[in-house]
Amino acid sequence: MVTQTEIKKMLENGTSQVPHGEVYIVEERCKGCGLCIAFCPKHVLVQSDRINEKGYHPPELVEVPPTDICIGCGMCERICPDFAIFVKTDKDKEKKRD
Ligand code: SF4
Ligand code: SF4
Repeated sequence: MVTQTEIKKMLENGTSQVPHGEVYIVEERCKGCGLCIAFCPKHVLVQSDRINEKGYHPPELVEVPPTDICIGCGMCERICPDFAIFVKTDKDKEKKRD
């Protein structure tokens, strides 16, 4: 997730780039509430036809990998009541390499 401080720094340095995210869905945790789909500002997620063990339709990505349209804002991750979805951004990968 990109923090406000990082955004401010990027704008000051003139190095602002739209970040990209990779979305991971833990289908068996999902209860199909659709919040992640409704609140994604880039419409990266749609309801799948699959049914998980609980009998719900988990979300799926509109494209695989979704790196071209997901901006890694983390809204889906924050809003999911069941911790069934998470996002890794370019920044997270850079941090791991450090
Ligand atoms: S990180 Fe943001 S843009 Fe990417 S799928 Fe989640 S809500 Fe959508
Ligand atoms: S917000 Fe979480 S529980 Fe709701 S549909 Fe999305 S992944 Fe499933």
